[in-house]
Amino acid sequence: MSLYRDQGVVLRTIKLGEADRIVTILTQGHGKIRAVAKGVRKTTSRFGARLEPTSRIALQCYRGRELDVVTQVETIDANRGLREHYGCLTHAISMLEASDQIAQDREPNPALYRMLAGALRTLAAEPSPLVSAAFFWKLLSLEGFHPMLDECARCGDESGPFPAFDLLEGGVLCESCGQLGGRRLTPEALALVRRILGGELRSALAEPPSATTVDVERLALAALEHHIERHLRSAALL
Ligand SMILES: [Zn+2]
Repeated sequence: MSLYRDQGVVLRTIKLGEADRIVTILTQGHGKIRAVAKGVRKTTSRFGARLEPTSRIALQCYRGRELDVVTQVETIDANRGLREHYGCLTHAISMLEASDQIAQDREPNPALYRMLAGALRTLAAEPSPLVSAAFFWKLLSLEGFHPMLDECARCGDESGPFPAFDLLEGGVLCESCGQLGGRRLTPEALALVRRILGGELRSALAEPPSATTVDVERLALAALEHHIERHLRSAALL
């Protein structure tokens, strides 16, 4: 067996036997891994508390055929802020769940890792519900599904207005195409999605909660769920 070091974000953990856990970790250099953490449920465990979902850790593992074995863990950032604001943890867990769905076993995806680590840090510092919405939009974009926001996704009309969004086409619809379907989209919500994806994320996150931010959150979640073809379990709590 070979030994490796990496850093990663803990996505989830499940119990194994009496004292162990299987930990799913999105690592920077080794993609998504699943590793056994032995003895972590005993109160004497040295690193049990470091292996909580949302924690960013430096780790050392033995490579196994399916499951690796965690031999060392140090906390880089416990993202404690996520537990201090109501609702924050739920948003964080939904980002972990989405990443878990997108990440492939042992396939490095440094861009995804950077995005997730950054989004958790931002959410811990600025508990805006738009952080997870922005994360979902950017995740789709990373996957190659950059939403079409400047022309009708069905007929190519560029003049607008665009009062609807079609999940199947992955973009906005003009007035006449929008009559045939799609979800309603207000001009304010469209403007906010454009800011999130157009390099104005920081100012967008400062938006106070409103009907528009709720619209953008719901649309982002729907677009992500459409792409991964399943519902996020944690989204029921959002
Ligand atoms: Zn159209």
